[in-house]
Amino acid sequence: MSSMITLALSKGRIFDETLPLLAAAGIQVLEDPEKSRKLILSTNQPNVRVVLVRATDVPTYVEYGGADIGVTGKDTLIEHGGQGLYQPLDLQIAKCRVSVAVRSDFDYAQAVKKGSRLQVATKYTSIARDFFATKGVHVDMVKLYGSMELAPLIGLADAIVDLVSTGNTLRANHLIEVERIMDISSHLVVNQAALKLKQAPLRRIIDAFASAVPPEKN
Ligand code: AMP
Repeated sequence: MSSMITLALSKGRIFDETLPLLAAAGIQVLEDPEKSRKLILSTNQPNVRVVLVRATDVPTYVEYGGADIGVTGKDTLIEHGGQGLYQPLDLQIAKCRVSVAVRSDFDYAQAVKKGSRLQVATKYTSIARDFFATKGVHVDMVKLYGSMELAPLIGLADAIVDLVSTGNTLRANHLIEVERIMDISSHLVVNQAALKLKQAPLRRIIDAFASAVPPEKN
C-alpha cells in the first residue's frame, strides 16, 4: 500500500515556478489551475496530489497536516512563525525583496532618527516590527491585507513595508524604495510527523527538488 502525498501550492508565480521542480521529481500536474476551479489537482502519480490554497495559508495547512509538504515565500514563513515545520530547502524561486517605501516628498532619513515615531502600513507586521525595533524607531502599525501602496498616498501611513520585485508598482504610485529589509525566495516546508510516517516518498521529492534548484548566484 502506498500512502498519499499532498502538496500545498498557491496559484500564480509559486505554482508556475514549482512545475519544473515537480517535473524533476517525475511529477506532472494534470490540470491547469487557471482553467479550472478545482482545489484538488491530480498528478500523473496516483499517490501525489496538489491542493491549491491562499499563499498565506500554505504554512498552516502543512503545520496541521492538511498537506504533507508545501511551497511558501520566506516572507509568509516568517509571519507564520514556522512552528512545526521542517524547512529543508530554499528553492530559489519567486524571488523578490521586502522593502520600506515612502512618498517621494517624505523625509525618511529625518523620520527614522532614533526615538522617533513612524506610521507603517503593511501586512508584514512581524518583519516590520523587528526591523524598526533594531533601529530604535517606534512604529504605529496599520495592518493591511493588500494595496499597501495606497496608504501613504491617502495619508493612512508615512511608510509601507511590502514586497518589491521590478519596482513598477512603486513607481506607478510615485513611491520610492528607501530601504531593503530582506531578500525573499520560496522555501519547501514539510510536516514533521509526515516526514517520519511517509519518509521514503517525501525524501524522494525533497531530493529531486534539491537536485533541480539552480546553484545560488552571488
Ligand atoms: P513589482 O511591481 O514587480 O515590484 O511587484 C510588486 C507587487 O507585486 C507588490 O504588490 C507585491 O506585493 C507583489 N509581489 C512582488 N513579488 C512578489 C512575490 N514574489 N510573491 C508575491 N507577491 C509579489
